[in-house]
Amino acid sequence: MRVNIDDYRGVWVYIEQKKGQLLDVGLELLAAGRDLADKLEVDLCGVLLGEEVKSLTKDVFEAGADKVYLIDDPVLHYYRTETYMTAVGDLVRKYKPEIFLYGATSNGKDLASAVATDVLCGLTADTTLMDVDVEKRLFEASRPAFGGNIMATILCKKHRPQMATVRPKVIKRLPLQAGRTGEVIEETINVKEEDLQTKVLKIVKDAKKAVNLEEASVIVAAGKGIKDEKGFAMVRELAETLNASLGASRDVVEAGICGHDHQVGQTGVTVTPKVYIAIGISGAIQHLVGMQNSELIIAINNDREAPIFQAAHYGIVADAFTVVPMLTTAFKEA
Ligand code: FAD
Repeated sequence: MRVNIDDYRGVWVYIEQKKGQLLDVGLELLAAGRDLADKLEVDLCGVLLGEEVKSLTKDVFEAGADKVYLIDDPVLHYYRTETYMTAVGDLVRKYKPEIFLYGATSNGKDLASAVATDVLCGLTADTTLMDVDVEKRLFEASRPAFGGNIMATILCKKHRPQMATVRPKVIKRLPLQAGRTGEVIEETINVKEEDLQTKVLKIVKDAKKAVNLEEASVIVAAGKGIKDEKGFAMVRELAETLNASLGASRDVVEAGICGHDHQVGQTGVTVTPKVYIAIGISGAIQHLVGMQNSELIIAINNDREAPIFQAAHYGIVADAFTVVPMLTTAFKEA
């Protein structure tokens, strides 16, 4: 179904919250959204859903939004595709945004794809760069393609809104502007709990999923150079000594040495810690895209030609099996 694209105006950002706490990614996307909205000379709007979340609008304005569309209802207490899709789909039909960004979190990806099928528009997943052709009013969403060898720019010419998911930590937040305010537009959701197909009975935390690489300030990551479980245990000991999180390349994950939760890179997580120590990692582009924005990168590799050294601030050309235990001992004694 064709839409009249001239009816669509404004840049929207889905502001994800969990248990009444805003996720950083929504605030990061407000920085990207601000740039797009300024170029298009339109408002930047946050979309905030949940129960008892009105007080969070203050932070959304301070992070750069001009308006917030708010639906505050007990039926939105837990994220459920059914309720969130209906709420956001109705907002889109009523207010017609031109561009709509979501964080590429589990819920953000689920919601964006559900809304795209509901309102019949396209969706670019895992965008890393965004711009806009102001004259044609076309949103340019770019992402790595063909194993990271090219950047593909995806345009949505015939449908609106133009939507994209963006990975956490790819965009830098704007400094908060204390006291900045805007307009809150309160809407309601036309769904009753008793009509829903999905009921949340209990939330059970995955005890194994203790890895939180995205929030870590120090990451020690293992590559195939560590060879096996014994080598991985050696890297784990260094990570524990430094109170760091443990990352890995895809080859280590695929060898069954650790779980996918640890994988950094194109098909893993994107991280921006203060310090990233890469041990026995060659530095393939698919790994680099996930960690190259780390503040300080230290690489340990026995091949001085390894590409990781081009991304690293400090490099140690040495056998990991010699140098890692030395580092662990030195940090334990320090
Ligand atoms: P290798 O490339 O085998 O490198 C091992 C390194 O260890 C070498 O540089 C070697 O010199 C060094 N080494 C060996 N022995 C020692 C020693 N004793 N001491 C010190 N150094 C030593 N990869 C990811 O990591 N994340 C992703 O998300 C990801 N997504 C992908 C998506 C696609 C579509 C594709 C096609 C690939 C993807 N990959 C990803 C895989 C990626 O291309 C590489 O194959 C992978 O990153 C290589 O892992 P590695 O560096 O551990 O292993």
